[in-house]
Amino acid sequence: MKITQEMIFEAKSYLSIIDYVKKIPSVQFKKAGVGKVLVNPCPLCGHYDHFFVYEYTNTYYSFSTRQCSGGGSIIDFIMNFKKVPRAEAVREVIELYYGNKFVVISDNELKREIKKEVNRNEYDFEDIIKKAHKYLVENGYSKYFKNRGIGRNLIKKYRLGYLNESIFNILEEKTSKKLPRQFSILLPVSRKSIILRHDPSQGGRFENKYIVLGKIEFFNQHELFDEAKDIVFVAEGIFDALSLESAYQKITVTNDRVIFLSINSVANVKKFAELIVKIPPKRIIIAFDNDPAGEQAREEVIKKIDKKHKIDILKSGKYKDINEMYLEEPGLLVAKMRKVLD
Ligand SMILES: [Zn+2]
Repeated sequence: MKITQEMIFEAKSYLSIIDYVKKIPSVQFKKAGVGKVLVNPCPLCGHYDHFFVYEYTNTYYSFSTRQCSGGGSIIDFIMNFKKVPRAEAVREVIELYYGNKFVVISDNELKREIKKEVNRNEYDFEDIIKKAHKYLVENGYSKYFKNRGIGRNLIKKYRLGYLNESIFNILEEKTSKKLPRQFSILLPVSRKSIILRHDPSQGGRFENKYIVLGKIEFFNQHELFDEAKDIVFVAEGIFDALSLESAYQKITVTNDRVIFLSINSVANVKKFAELIVKIPPKRIIIAFDNDPAGEQAREEVIKKIDKKHKIDILKSGKYKDINEMYLEEPGLLVAKMRKVLD
């Protein structure tokens, strides 16, 4: 394996910054809120009460007026902690995450990949999300969402959107990517991660229905670290997760305890399994698609899952996925959810 920007990105996202800091002698950890840990003394300057690690983003921040102020990823941390250049910190992170499987590449090649990776991570889609949501709302809500059973409350809650030509232009400029205009449905995962979905009414045939831009993050991922939320429905697509949430609203109006997660593709099962090792104990209800890939992914999660969690399965029966079941037989989905939650 040659080091690529994707590898750097994955290693930095998933190599635990907490575990790395834990190896530093004589630092103490104290929970300071949901997914937030105070580290004392500050591993960078030795003073107290200003260095925090954020578990759900796997980042740190030092609230200090000293030299150690600022924050970032595990790569930024190593650069500041060991006082080494970025390339050296990247090599360390890659080696810790992948072992020795990678091919050592020249510093120049590595620098090019680092530059690509750094640029990729700079995307902030907040302006795009706002504009696309406004466009969708002002145009009377897209038929597409209605056809898939997604109501106004969820469109608002998740700021779902629709792209017009001018928003596409801004997005293309931001990402330096040519984007097919048929992918006009915007599903925000976070301000750093968005999914564009093919709108079938726009025509065209595409192998993949989605384009993921920015960070690879799961829909509602940040909620996994919330201890008060102890039930997780995990689906493949965002529309399946939204269908589960819509159906759940027919059971009760409060969903303070429930997370509706989407991993977007069964290709992300390994990442999901790595993530659930780090979260507080939960009841995890797997609601993957009713096909061989979904079946295999379900088996894989069950095999890899941490013993602290409790697993349940929600199958979509004769329907290909949860969204289809919700559209065809919403009552059945509600009944199945009730049963699994009992
Ligand atoms: Zn400090």
